Amino acid sequence: MDEIGRAYVALGLRINEHFPGYVDAYIGGDETRQAILAHGPRSLADLREDADRLAQRIAGEPLPEPRKTWLAKQVEAMRTMLARLDGEIIPFREEAERCLDIRPERVPETEFEAAIAEIDRLLPGPGPLEERVEAWKKQTEVAEDKVPMLLELARQEARRRTQALVDLPDGEDVEILIVHNQPWSGYNWYLGHYRSRIDVNLDLPTRVPSILPLMTHEGYPGHHTEHALKEKILYREKGWEEASIFLLNTPECVISEGIANVALDMIFTEDEAAAFLHDVLYPAAGLEHLDPERDRALGRAFRKLAGVSGNVAFLAYEDGWSDDELVAYIQKYGLRSETEARFSLKFIRNPMFRTYIFTYFYGERMLRAALAGPDRREVFRRLLTEPLTPGVVAGWISQAS
Ligand SMILES: [Zn+2]
Repeated sequence: MDEIGRAYVALGLRINEHFPGYVDAYIGGDETRQAILAHGPRSLADLREDADRLAQRIAGEPLPEPRKTWLAKQVEAMRTMLARLDGEIIPFREEAERCLDIRPERVPETEFEAAIAEIDRLLPGPGPLEERVEAWKKQTEVAEDKVPMLLELARQEARRRTQALVDLPDGEDVEILIVHNQPWSGYNWYLGHYRSRIDVNLDLPTRVPSILPLMTHEGYPGHHTEHALKEKILYREKGWEEASIFLLNTPECVISEGIANVALDMIFTEDEAAAFLHDVLYPAAGLEHLDPERDRALGRAFRKLAGVSGNVAFLAYEDGWSDDELVAYIQKYGLRSETEARFSLKFIRNPMFRTYIFTYFYGERMLRAALAGPDRREVFRRLLTEPLTPGVVAGWISQAS
């Protein structure tokens, strides 16, 4: 039996009893889960000792790389989470570093201001910029009852293109479910045996340009694809038990969200994505696609505002800003309506996601750098199939430059 892997799984499942939601996915089966949890919850003090022991054991064992580093960094994140749950005060920045194996920094507002000036230029007209942005977004909003059909079109195309990039396991599949009242806009629940359920939250209006990024992020070749390939190769073929559990607020999330955020660009060129939007999704939505060239430029400019959310987390948890101050900041630098700003604040204020928020921006930035060379398809396949940490990927990048 894989004792280190089993101890890792047990620790994750037991932390989840103190912090429900910490286990994002567990595919090791109900029997194993029940056996591990049979004796009731262990105290935080006991769990902290378990985690320390596991960390020592990993350090002393001759495990192959990158598995050894991955286990060590994941357990460090679990120790940090346990310390926080146990009431230890950890500075926010340190918490993020120890949980995620990255060093988040504030993004200078001048970077957002440059993107906002570009958006202002692309949406000329009378009235304040916020109103012009709102009017532009409104043109692309699709009726709720059309959303499942658009998601299905995107699913088929993204899956077809992903199959040309990697060998998807036999029997893999995703189911799409429309939901409401969640702090996120989409979520991939990995169910095991190569199947996922993607929940799409329609609390906010859905815009046609967001359909394809959502499907590539959550499904193909994003979260679902990564989970399915890692289940097959790491868990079923190599027998590494730790690959049967996926934990939030750990380094693996940085890699995962990075994969998901670059996923679209791994299977579509910018021209192809624009053509799919224009030729398939807009007509299916029954909407006129007014100015494709301008929309591409706007999409690029809006992506430069992605660092706003990390800044908001620093302002909330280092500077102690109030919710109203944070909402105003998101509106100003993220060019969001008040409703959208309150929605994204809900995510950052959720105790599960307060450090998690960094995974998107830093994961994407790191992976774009790692995928900049001619071997990008091979690098992407490694990301989908090996237990990699942000530190290891950062090492590849500094070697290449
Ligand atoms: Zn994601």
